[in-house]
Amino acid sequence: MKKILFIIIAMLFFSFGVEAKKIKTMIVTGQDGSHWWKGGSEAIEMILENSGLFTVDILVTPATGESMENYRPDFKKYDLVIINYGGVTWTEQARKNFEKFVSNGGGVVVIHSSIIPMEDWPEYNKMVGLGAWNGRNEKFGPYVYWKNDRWVYDYSPGWAGYHGLQHPFTVVHRDTVHPIVNGLPPVWEHFKDELYARLRGPAQNMKILATAYETASDGVGRDEPVLWTVNYGKGKVFVSVLGHAGNDPELRYSMECTGFQVTLLRGAEWAATGTVTQEIPKDFPSKGVYTLRKEWKSP
Ligand code: ZN
Repeated sequence: MKKILFIIIAMLFFSFGVEAKKIKTMIVTGQDGSHWWKGGSEAIEMILENSGLFTVDILVTPATGESMENYRPDFKKYDLVIINYGGVTWTEQARKNFEKFVSNGGGVVVIHSSIIPMEDWPEYNKMVGLGAWNGRNEKFGPYVYWKNDRWVYDYSPGWAGYHGLQHPFTVVHRDTVHPIVNGLPPVWEHFKDELYARLRGPAQNMKILATAYETASDGVGRDEPVLWTVNYGKGKVFVSVLGHAGNDPELRYSMECTGFQVTLLRGAEWAATGTVTQEIPKDFPSKGVYTLRKEWKSP
């Protein structure tokens, strides 16, 4: 009897111990006129929780047009904040709290269209590194792209933000040692998605991990950044412009891509802890071959 009791206590202790190590994550979402923010956020929640590494709360902002005055997330209760949000700029109090959270070492992940909003918040522009649309131009910083084996910082005047029709595309890692991408196939096929181009922003303390080639409306094609990191104070930010979720429950196939899910999981762990402990998955896509995780988890 004593032995059984000991085993039960040991199991409880062990399970609490494992639980305590999970990365406490908050997804900020609730406004985005061009995307199905609810479905996208629920997909992100499933991907993270199914990995066994994260616990996730979804914090929904007031709806579009409603007052943001009482929206004051308690960021400091979390290790990681995921931004899946395309709405109005937060209140000054929420902005200050978030700046403090990140500069004190909080982790941040920024998904797809979340590089578009809050262009009038300079610190947010610094955290995301590169943004698009909402009147962004040369005053916000350079275009950044890859050409002839090096990064080009292009300060020429012009608009920011382009995407064409959705299509599958090839992602090429331009850094292969950073923990987020180390060991992954450096060239892989991403499933049908909306590919952003002509981003511009402060681009400070930034490390671009991967590009994809896109031709914009002026007929000029470039290798455009799609995955990158930004250091902000002691905080770490991972940005993935992959992961469009359309205005319909059937339209989050871009997030079903194994490449999206695995880079999200690795980027999220890195942003929260500075390291990546995950193994290289056998189902990761390769050159010319995409793979899907329709169940939002490793097969
Ligand atoms: Zn989109």
